[in-house]
Amino acid sequence: MAEGCVYLVGAGPGDPELLTVKALRVIREADVVVMDRLVSHDIEALIPAGTTRIFAGKEAGKHHLRQEEINDLLQRLAQSGRRVVRLKGGDPLVFGRGSEEAEHLARSGIRFEVVPGITAAAGCTAYAGIPLTHRGLANTVRFITGHAMDNGDIEYDWPKLVDPDCTLVIYMGLGTLDRLATALIGAGMPPDMPAAAIQHGTTAHQRRVTAALAELPQVVRSARLASPTLVVIGKVVGMAETLDWFQPMPADTQSVAL
Ligand code: SAH
Repeated sequence: MAEGCVYLVGAGPGDPELLTVKALRVIREADVVVMDRLVSHDIEALIPAGTTRIFAGKEAGKHHLRQEEINDLLQRLAQSGRRVVRLKGGDPLVFGRGSEEAEHLARSGIRFEVVPGITAAAGCTAYAGIPLTHRGLANTVRFITGHAMDNGDIEYDWPKLVDPDCTLVIYMGLGTLDRLATALIGAGMPPDMPAAAIQHGTTAHQRRVTAALAELPQVVRSARLASPTLVVIGKVVGMAETLDWFQPMPADTQSVAL
């Protein structure tokens, strides 16, 4: 039997044109695609009709397959000689547990390759008119997860996260946005620091709100933003109006399209 292989592939944040050429090739050549919830429908549509799809998707509190089950599934599929694409939103190695899957495959002696993708921090900000760095506004970027606060994994050293020259990007931060803003301000972040939340970034359903950090949780609630939403805090957010180039579908046609 031919030796199988697992490709850990980043699908990018949503716009199918942000897939890499390599990602598209391995998707077209795959026998099986094991999908993440975060992969957009437009990207799913690129999977050839005859290819087996398995939904391993995760939603907060609603895991379809546990991580160990996904690891075992990838292992079994590869051991049966299949070319497996493990398709993940954004980049597989940024808050995507791709490295845990890779670790499992490496330990099991299974061949794997990693195909990087555009991570939400890069894709969603670009489509929201927010540069991650800009001379005079930010010379450092930091990616953190809000989810870790919820499950008690991480208690951040808040004063260390307060740096007026750093753009702070928060993944999975919607559920803990109140606590996050309070903790940052408590540690010395100016309450009027520009902040943004971007929902469904890079897609026709993208919505962006901006506000002073102290106001952001309330603004996000009023706008009823839902997951996936990326939070960005830093002076660079002040450029969003000037660099606002992306035209998502107007809100009234969005509900029809959904
Ligand atoms: N591996 C992914 C991140 C997975 S964590 C990546 O590299 O992008 C999931 C979080 O990513 C979401 O809660 C949200 O904060 C962010 N995210 C991913 N895609 C997004 C999108 N299209 N719009 C807004 N946020 C997104």
